Amino acid sequence: MRVGIVGGGLSGLSTAAHLLLRAPKDFAVEIFEAAPIAGGQCASWRDARGRPVETGIHLDFPWYHNKDALFAAIGHPLPLRETDGNYYVCNGATDRVDTLLAGKSVLKTLGGLATFPGLTPRERWQLTRLIWRILRTDDAAADAHDGQSVSEFLASQGATPALAAQLSLEAVTIQGLRPEDASATSFIKFLRTMYGSMGKFDTTFFGAPLADALIDPLANFVTGRGAHLRLGRAVAEVGTDGTGPRIRTADGAETAFDHVVFAVPGHAVPSLLPAAWRERPPFARLGALSETPIITITLWYDQSVFQDGNVYISNRDRRHGPIFDAVADKARHWAGWKGHQPTGSILQVLIDAADDVVHLSDDALVARACADLARFFPACRGVTPTDATVLRLTGTYCGTRVGYWSLVPRTHDTGIPGVWLAGDYTAGPYHYGMESAVISGKQVANHLLTARGHAPHPILRPNYLPFVRA
Ligand SMILES: Cc1cc2nc3c(=O)[nH]c(=O)nc-3n(C[C@H](O)[C@H](O)[C@H](O)COP(=O)(O)OP(=O)(O)OC[C@H]3O[C@@H](n4cnc5c(N)ncnc54)[C@H](O)[C@@H]3O)c2cc1C
Repeated sequence: MRVGIVGGGLSGLSTAAHLLLRAPKDFAVEIFEAAPIAGGQCASWRDARGRPVETGIHLDFPWYHNKDALFAAIGHPLPLRETDGNYYVCNGATDRVDTLLAGKSVLKTLGGLATFPGLTPRERWQLTRLIWRILRTDDAAADAHDGQSVSEFLASQGATPALAAQLSLEAVTIQGLRPEDASATSFIKFLRTMYGSMGKFDTTFFGAPLADALIDPLANFVTGRGAHLRLGRAVAEVGTDGTGPRIRTADGAETAFDHVVFAVPGHAVPSLLPAAWRERPPFARLGALSETPIITITLWYDQSVFQDGNVYISNRDRRHGPIFDAVADKARHWAGWKGHQPTGSILQVLIDAADDVVHLSDDALVARACADLARFFPACRGVTPTDATVLRLTGTYCGTRVGYWSLVPRTHDTGIPGVWLAGDYTAGPYHYGMESAVISGKQVANHLLTARGHAPHPILRPNYLPFVRA
């Protein structure tokens, strides 16, 4: 069976790996990746000076069971570095770092609700009741909030301004949007998973850059089993000639397949379709999805300026800042990785929901980031990075805006014989993220495996507490 995959990100590689794990002799797989490197949103590469650069901070959560299972199956367990599980919140209004207790222990998480920073005892009680209601919200009930923003949802739940401001952290750091723009449905589904599922470890980072930790092992596995990974080969159109789907690349070459899998962000699909397909479901609504601008600043220091390996987040308070919504020291995560021996900190500064700052020059962004780091981290005061890189990511990331869930398909089958949809927007406990990308590829592979008489791979669900309705 000839399978053409459009996109060499995690979902495209997951599709290929799940096919080739089960039945390597049955599938001839070809992956077309527009970029010169694989990985998409999870890519990392070397800069001109040989230093590793990543798209941005990636957290691996304890409920990422399908991803862990995939890497175990290909014989490359992920090099995970555990944080202490807590969330550290840079509070722009006070210049203090507030600690939100969280982690694999239920007691610690309950302690987090009881001591949630910046709230009165009454607000903490309100928060506990709200989280309980969220845990009891099943998918259908959560979907009913799709027309609401996170701000509207929190107001409808009677959240006080302080409570709303604290919970908005999730919208900025996970959905990459301001609470007034982010879909309440995704917010509910993420909080339900975060508070309702139990894992064996705390939130983790990778002990090596994304390519070494994730992408290269997967790419090596699939090419080792005979797949062709065509880098720098952008697909211009996917069509059909009556006998089956065909892929036309930007250089005009056309190849026939038995199956073609779209593994690109949802908003990028319609431009690859023949006009006649664009208006039919499930494609018709994808054109209304939109991207979210993200900026990643990497700051290189010749001394250590960060105290630990945790991630520090903020809600990017419009009035008080800071400019970043997450920052972490990669030198601490990569300690022990043979590919690079840093002499000081490598701070990765992530700016999600970056619409308000994309107009700033690189120099201005770096200056703002350094000033904000000095506000929260004493060791950063009076220290200037020896170098800085600014990465502006566009065209990658589907924003889970209000109405998002009415636009994304709930099926991988497009209804056109042999044409499938993978991608983080098509699957997962709350859509979006590495686990969703892996699950989507697994689900598409399962359709093709079943068609050839092979057993499907089991789809692993988050390990929810018994009272959670998911
Ligand atoms: C800065 C940042 C931080 C993130 N942090 C986290 C995190 O902490 N935890 C988490 O779980 N997730 C995180 N994510 C999200 C995670 O990276 C994505 O959900 C996941 O990588 C999506 O994989 P994908 O394969 O669905 O899409 P993509 O990674 O977007 O892959 C799609 C691929 O298709 C290629 N492509 C597009 N058009 C064409 C074409 N015409 N022809 C050929 N190829 C094409 C692209 O180049 C790309 O390689 C983050 C993302 C970013 C950008």
